[in-house]
Amino acid sequence: MNRLLGDNGRVLAFGAHPDDLEVGAGGLLARLVREGAEVTLAVVSIPNQLEQRRAEAQAGADVIGGKLRVLFDERPTRVEDIPMHELVRRFDMVVGDSRPDLVITHSTHDLHWDHGLVNRATVSALRRTPCDLLAFLSSPEMNAQSRAMGQCFADITHTLELKIRAIQAHTSQVPKLDLESSRDLARAMGRISGYEYAEAYEALRVRV
Ligand SMILES: [Zn+2]
Repeated sequence: MNRLLGDNGRVLAFGAHPDDLEVGAGGLLARLVREGAEVTLAVVSIPNQLEQRRAEAQAGADVIGGKLRVLFDERPTRVEDIPMHELVRRFDMVVGDSRPDLVITHSTHDLHWDHGLVNRATVSALRRTPCDLLAFLSSPEMNAQSRAMGQCFADITHTLELKIRAIQAHTSQVPKLDLESSRDLARAMGRISGYEYAEAYEALRVRV
């Protein structure tokens, strides 16, 4: 297994809602923390149950070992209710603060409208930032359906259990989140890539 970043690498991950990052990229984010990177989990909005879901997002970030930042937490918000220029302005601020070497965001192939908007805002906010960019799909169902993913696989064999624990931290969502599907998908991606467990990413920009 190769290390993805050098010492003190900086990683910035954008998720539209609490739990998207844990489901889509939790294994890789936890691995990057263990490899010495400074990881920021930027949750764009909390659509409902503001206090509870903010606490769950914090608990998920704590399991992964990253720093949580909620971009719009003044009130319950859906991403599609935020004007794109305001979305990009806040993304700009986070990118400026974190100066990332690697950014991880939603895929354009994601069928959830809010997730697609976060992809657009991420690409826009990175217009002057040289960094690598990976995209994820945040549900096992979408991953299973998508032919676009799988250009790039991350070995998460040693962080799969942390990923599952980070998803479980979202207690209000656990009835909707099928933990076994996450495990099965990681195994399936592992079989394709030759790891025990893996997450699939779309490589939007990679410097080699
Ligand atoms: Zn979401």
